[in-house]
Amino acid sequence: MSTPLIAGNWKMNGSLSLVEDFARGFADATLPECVDVALMVPFPYLEAAGRAWGDTPLVVGAQTLSDRPAGAFTGEVSGEMLKELGARLVLVGHSERRILFGEDDAAVLARVRAALACELTPVLCLGETLEERDAGRTEAVVLGQLEAVLEGLGVGERPRLVLAYEPVWAIGTGRTASPEQAQAVHGAIRARLTDYCASLAEDMRILYGGSMKAANAAELLAQPDIDGGLVGGASLQVDDFLAICQSAG
Ligand code: 13P
Repeated sequence: MSTPLIAGNWKMNGSLSLVEDFARGFADATLPECVDVALMVPFPYLEAAGRAWGDTPLVVGAQTLSDRPAGAFTGEVSGEMLKELGARLVLVGHSERRILFGEDDAAVLARVRAALACELTPVLCLGETLEERDAGRTEAVVLGQLEAVLEGLGVGERPRLVLAYEPVWAIGTGRTASPEQAQAVHGAIRARLTDYCASLAEDMRILYGGSMKAANAAELLAQPDIDGGLVGGASLQVDDFLAICQSAG
């Protein structure tokens, strides 16, 4: 079994003082022996986070990247720039990017490629809306998003990806998928990965995201195909996030 990963996503929140709070809170925190912990922070805080969290288990990640390596793309940020500032992971295809910023499967694939090209680990987010779930299309949507990337990359590559299943209706709503609902989708993702490559399926971490908090993390993380969490709101408080990390042991 792979090491669980608890990743926080600050979205467009946080501050330099919150970076310092996490440095203090995680400096001598007691964590389970076997857990990876990361925080995806806004671009302007990457460098400070890289510096402040050097003596903690916190790994620094970013929330998106350009699909281009460099050039006249005003306002964009490349993977190499993120790496230079200490990021090791980057979210790709978060539903807020897909829905609010029009990133379709082709745009998501291009960003996954850009991340892999500079050895950043993409955390590829997948998830259905409430309308899609109510129409019985959850698996079709989620597996379609996954296949768009796997087929685009080609099986031979054995991509160094992390997946995150985040039902859109559970994000920021306080309405968490039940452990059974989440496991059903995670199981379907794992089965589809197995069709591609059995060892890839075994190694790839599939995180759950959507109103995860200290009170529900343990039972979600106990599901056989849930290998960690992607945490929004509850990653903005040191104690809340630490409690989630501790429940991954
Ligand atoms: P919440 O934990 O606030 O629901 O956000 C989940 C999320 O979108 C993480 O990427």
